[in-house]
Amino acid sequence: KRFEDLGVDANILKGIYEMRFTKPSKIQEKALPLLLADPPTNMIGQSQSGTGKTAAFVLNILIRLDLSTPEARQRPQAMVLAPSRELARQIHGVIQIMGRYVEGLQIASSIPADRDNRGKFLDGQVVVGTPGTTMDLIKKRLINPTGIKVLVLDEADNMLDQQGLGDQCLRVKKMLPPAVQVVLFSATFPDNVVQYAERFAPNSNQITL
Ligand code: AMP
Repeated sequence: KRFEDLGVDANILKGIYEMRFTKPSKIQEKALPLLLADPPTNMIGQSQSGTGKTAAFVLNILIRLDLSTPEARQRPQAMVLAPSRELARQIHGVIQIMGRYVEGLQIASSIPADRDNRGKFLDGQVVVGTPGTTMDLIKKRLINPTGIKVLVLDEADNMLDQQGLGDQCLRVKKMLPPAVQVVLFSATFPDNVVQYAERFAPNSNQITL
């Protein structure tokens, strides 16, 4: 299987080759056809870090973005939540590299320490951040959640098993359109997280590596 066969278009392929990926990793080969199917279906994916899960959910986002009109480009269409600022920054960086040749792509950060965000409306089609700050910015109307089509939780086990972070994630999700595609990735899904995850991402495709 090649990226070309997965329906990745030319400008995204350029970003992939810039990352020096020659072919999809195992998890990408498993996850991408399910993630990209229409109608969009939720996913719970179990995969260790180092297997290429970030690129899998980033590709799903890049492929699903509509950048065809100024109106579409104006509001967020995808949101990625991570349990730490460090991870959120890394994801932000991956989207930037993979999306380098995607014309009009703008990525917004809702990471607490990125202070240039303070009081400013977050424009961009992808928002990456930690749950608390993201919720805060939605409440302050600095993030418009009405056009979000994809919600990704990375290291979902580290968020859903913590009362505070899990609640924040749930609150964010409740602000999004009901048809949002929910994608959970995690290295492990311990018993106490599985049930919560299945409620968070109902009727999901479940894959393990
Ligand atoms: P992750 O599982 O997202 O932590 O990714 C782990 C590492 O795998 C990162 O350094 C990626 O750059 C790399 N990677 C992701 N997808 C591929 C691929 N298709 N081919 C080669 N390396 C990849």
